[in-house]
Amino acid sequence: MRVTGADKRAGHRKQPPPPNLTTPQQNRVYHIVPMPELPEVESIKRYLIDQKIPNATIQRVEIGWPDSIVVPANDIESFANRISHKRIKNITRRGKYIVSTLSDQQDTQSHLVLHMGMTGSLHVRNLSDPPVRYRRAAIFLDDTRRIELNDYRRWAKLWALDDPSLAYPNLGPEPWDITPTDFATRLRSRRLRIKPALLDQSIIAGVGNIYADESLHRTGISPLRRTNRISTQRLTQLHTNIIKSLNRAINHITTHPSEDGSPYVVDAYDDRMRIIRTPNSPCSTCHQPTKNTKISGRTAYHCPNCQH
Ligand SMILES: [Zn+2]
Repeated sequence: MRVTGADKRAGHRKQPPPPNLTTPQQNRVYHIVPMPELPEVESIKRYLIDQKIPNATIQRVEIGWPDSIVVPANDIESFANRISHKRIKNITRRGKYIVSTLSDQQDTQSHLVLHMGMTGSLHVRNLSDPPVRYRRAAIFLDDTRRIELNDYRRWAKLWALDDPSLAYPNLGPEPWDITPTDFATRLRSRRLRIKPALLDQSIIAGVGNIYADESLHRTGISPLRRTNRISTQRLTQLHTNIIKSLNRAINHITTHPSEDGSPYVVDAYDDRMRIIRTPNSPCSTCHQPTKNTKISGRTAYHCPNCQH
């Protein structure tokens, strides 16, 4: 079992720790942490590619929970028919969605889109491996392996679509696919507070609660600042720091896999975070206590001394 910053600091938390779920077979502990963010999803995509899932053919599908299917809505049989006997051509990520391009024998393309919800993760299992503990879906491949969706909360979602963008119609550009100047222009044209603006997936895709706070702290911008009151220069620095924060997390996750090789879901209390998400914890820069402020329904952790 890995000991994380979370374990070391558990005694300082005000909120209850996430449940630890032990798989009896291997005595492994999973930390169920809220909301896989972009780095976890990118790591899951890379894991599936490393496991050589592209080029495998889907034989059949088992879905345990009809509510998890968005298209065709709640219809397990139609969903299974749409994706069975199709070859997985490639796997990409868009925001927090994993997109598999499928092709049939005539090379007609369709797509399987997956969103991890709050607690979802994917695991490639061999024939002899037991199922994951909270198996909500299993995709059986022609090489005897299967991809299992482990999802404690059951909020992961699946789509079988010809056009994958229908799963995320209002998604803005990825942080990597936009220039710093365009990023600043998109934000400055709004009058929102910067924190909810970063979480607005139509402005920029894939920046979640943790990495918005991390990158605002790195840039010294208060989460309460209005976007039209922040200079273009500071916003371009923010763009750089968003990419830096996300890349650091992706590198950390991909180099610290679980024992079965699947990506470990990052713990928001991890030591490598700039902001410890516990009220009044010391700022990593000035050591003054940080604040937690509700902004548009989400808690922002920030340092009033370093962020203006
Ligand atoms: Zn500070």
